[in-house]
Amino acid sequence: MKFISTRGGECVTGARAIAQGIAADGGLFVPESFPAVSSAELEAMLSMNYAERAAFVLHKYLDEYDYDALKGACEKAYAQFEGGDAAPLVKIDHGLYILELFHGPTCAFKDMALTLLPYLLRTGCDLCGVKEQVLILVATSGDTGKAALEGFKDAPGIKIMVFYPNDGVSKMQKLQMSTQEGENVNVVAVRSNFDDCQTAVKTIFTGEQYKKELLEKGYILSSANSINFGRLAPQIAYYFSAYLDLVSSDQIELGEPVHFAVPTGNFGNILAAYYAKRMGLPVGKLLCASNKNNILTDFIHTGVYDKRREFYKTMSPSMDILISSNLERLLFEICGRDAGRVSSLMRQLKEEGSYSLGEEEKAAVQELFYGDFCGEDETVETIYEFFEEYQYPMDTHTACAMYATDTYRARHEKDKAPVVVVSTASPYKFPQDVMYAITGNDIKDSFKAIKHLNIATAMQVPKNLSKLRDKSVRFTAVADKDKLYPEVLKFIDRK
Ligand SMILES: *Cc1c(COP(=O)(O)O)cnc(C)c1O
Repeated sequence: MKFISTRGGECVTGARAIAQGIAADGGLFVPESFPAVSSAELEAMLSMNYAERAAFVLHKYLDEYDYDALKGACEKAYAQFEGGDAAPLVKIDHGLYILELFHGPTCAFKDMALTLLPYLLRTGCDLCGVKEQVLILVATSGDTGKAALEGFKDAPGIKIMVFYPNDGVSKMQKLQMSTQEGENVNVVAVRSNFDDCQTAVKTIFTGEQYKKELLEKGYILSSANSINFGRLAPQIAYYFSAYLDLVSSDQIELGEPVHFAVPTGNFGNILAAYYAKRMGLPVGKLLCASNKNNILTDFIHTGVYDKRREFYKTMSPSMDILISSNLERLLFEICGRDAGRVSSLMRQLKEEGSYSLGEEEKAAVQELFYGDFCGEDETVETIYEFFEEYQYPMDTHTACAMYATDTYRARHEKDKAPVVVVSTASPYKFPQDVMYAITGNDIKDSFKAIKHLNIATAMQVPKNLSKLRDKSVRFTAVADKDKLYPEVLKFIDRK
């Protein structure tokens, strides 16, 4: 299978697309066509475990990777998850399920892809004959950074550097990153927000001069952000797995549509659901949930993407994003794969701060997606009410998706299709906010909040979060947003 750029400039193998991360024309790599999964194949997947399902889905795209090695890598990646099942589906009520994607090493759904990406990237580089060291630059709103650091720590031939907004991540996220172990890692806080971090990193990626200088020093750049297809591909697998779990537990018949509600920031997770649908999985509506930064909700309602608006810091920081990179991949499909049209929309976004879809394009988006957003008060209320009713504690991001599920159901009473709410983080990753929502107690110390939350909910505390308390801080650097490249040089020149 070949991959093409959403802006038309490139056609490469999957291995190259992953090794490179982003296309040279600034576009994102997308598959030349969507590989189909037949109903016979879906049936065959019923008896597979999670790692086998993941390998099966991945190999549809990455057919030049050795199947057995890929399966071995999936098994190794998902064996790191607590509890035996990497992506358990929890039944809450009739027709309402939660897909828990937070049992990995860093307690957020990013682990689903980032435990596997080192293998995909290393093998991708080997398949392309890349001899240089790989330097991974990551811009993070909190969870990607930690998951990438953990995934890539001490990976041979790879160095990783993470940039996060200094005041834009939770205490727990900051602590997770600043205490990271590994000889090949570096973490820098940026005096700005996530969008600026992402833009600054993208500037390094597309700057010819930077690339040349780094190559002379023996490095090629790659990305662990969800612009890399290697991030997206493993995410497609859990939509298949959740659907198959519904079938094998007799909740639905094979072929019945299922809606997915996804807390959305950079549009990577929900895009993977769309890809699953395009591969033939019976996905119904995609419920795109935002927080107070509701640019995607507006986009789905009006067809206008306008980033000229206030940026809010919320209690769901991994969704505090105004420029959702992966939306470009959806636009490519919505525009009938017209790379010229995508380039022009992206140029308008960059130069004017907004773009508008045509009527037909807007209708196509609305056919696929339902959009709603959840404000700060509603986040607290949703967590509280859900816990009261079902004794199930949710994190602040998942709460946004649950809220959107509630409004969708209230507005579409006749639609009885089951909804799977995608849970993207452990409530223990945001313990103060969840504790406040459930009990009204405002606890300043994260570890105290974890302890109290455990008493209040009886939900098991993830080992990796409780261990954090005893780790020492290794990274304290803070840089201005236009000074990231010098930090990169400092890092790779360090002996
Ligand atoms: C990254 C993240 C999101 C947003 O996912 P996207 O793929 O960027 O849309 C939502 N919730 C949590 C907890 C996250 O870490």
